[in-house]
Amino acid sequence: MLPSETQFHPLQESTLRFDGGAMFGHVPKTVWQKLVEPDHNNRVLTACNSLLVRTAGKNIVVEVGMGTKWSDKEVELYELKSNPYSQLLSPHGLTTSDIDLIIVTHLHIDHAGGLTRFNGQQKVESTFPNATVVVQQGEWEAANNPDLRSRPSYRAHDFLPIHESGKLQLVQGSRQILPGVEVILTGGHTQWHQIVKFTTARHTVYYLGDCIPSTAHLKPHWVMGYDLYPMDVIRARSRLFPLLVRENVIVVFGHDPANPVARIVEGKKPNTFDFLPAKFS
Ligand SMILES: [Zn+2]
Repeated sequence: MLPSETQFHPLQESTLRFDGGAMFGHVPKTVWQKLVEPDHNNRVLTACNSLLVRTAGKNIVVEVGMGTKWSDKEVELYELKSNPYSQLLSPHGLTTSDIDLIIVTHLHIDHAGGLTRFNGQQKVESTFPNATVVVQQGEWEAANNPDLRSRPSYRAHDFLPIHESGKLQLVQGSRQILPGVEVILTGGHTQWHQIVKFTTARHTVYYLGDCIPSTAHLKPHWVMGYDLYPMDVIRARSRLFPLLVRENVIVVFGHDPANPVARIVEGKKPNTFDFLPAKFS
C-alpha cells in the first residue's frame, strides 16, 4: 500500500478532436450525440488526461498523451492543443527530470506521444530523462511490428528512444510495480492494454485508459471503432463496472475533457452505470 499522504493530480495534457463515429463504433450518431456534441466535421472534443502521483519520495506519471512532436498540418487536423510537461509540472514544483516512473496503458500515439520530444536541434529525446517507463511486453512487440490496421496508431520515435536509453521496463500480465501500484491487463482496445490501480490508506484509484475512455462510455457494449478486440472490451468492462461500484473507488478517465475524475455508481436501470464527478481530497 502507498502512504496515506500520497497525492493525486489529474493533468490535462491535451485537447483534440477525434471522429465521433470512431469514438462510438457501432452506436448510431442519433444516440451518441445526445451525450457528446459533434462539430461540423463530425468530430468530438476529447482530452488526453495524465495522472501525476506524488508518493514516498517518488513522482509517478500515468499516460503521457499526444506530446508535442506534431506538424502544423497534424495540429490542424486534430485541432490539437497540447501542453508541454514542463508547463504541466511546474505548478507542482516539478520538472520533467523529477519524474521517476511512467506507466502507459498502451503505446498508441495519443497515449505514448509525450514520452519523447524534439530538442533544440529537432532531434528526438526522452521527455523524462530519469523515468523508468513501464509497458506490457506484448504491447511493445505489437507496437514494433504493427499490423496493417495498427500502423497509423504507433510511431517508433515515441518509444524507441526509451529502449535505447535503457529506461524501458517490460512487464508481462497483471502485476505489482511497487507496493500499492499495480497494472492490470484488460486487453480489448489492444491485445495487451493495461489499466493502473493505486491503493493508499485513503483512496483506491483506477486509471482506466482506453478500457473505459470517458463518461460517455459507461455502457459495457458502447465500444469504440478504435478497439481492436471489442468483445474483450465488453468482457473487461463487465468485470470492472460492478467492482468499481462496489469498492467505491475513484476513477480517472483517459479521454474525458470535462470529468476526468469520478466515481462510478449504479444507474437507474439494472446493469447500467452512471458517474458522479469526484475530486482528490
Ligand atoms: Zn489507443
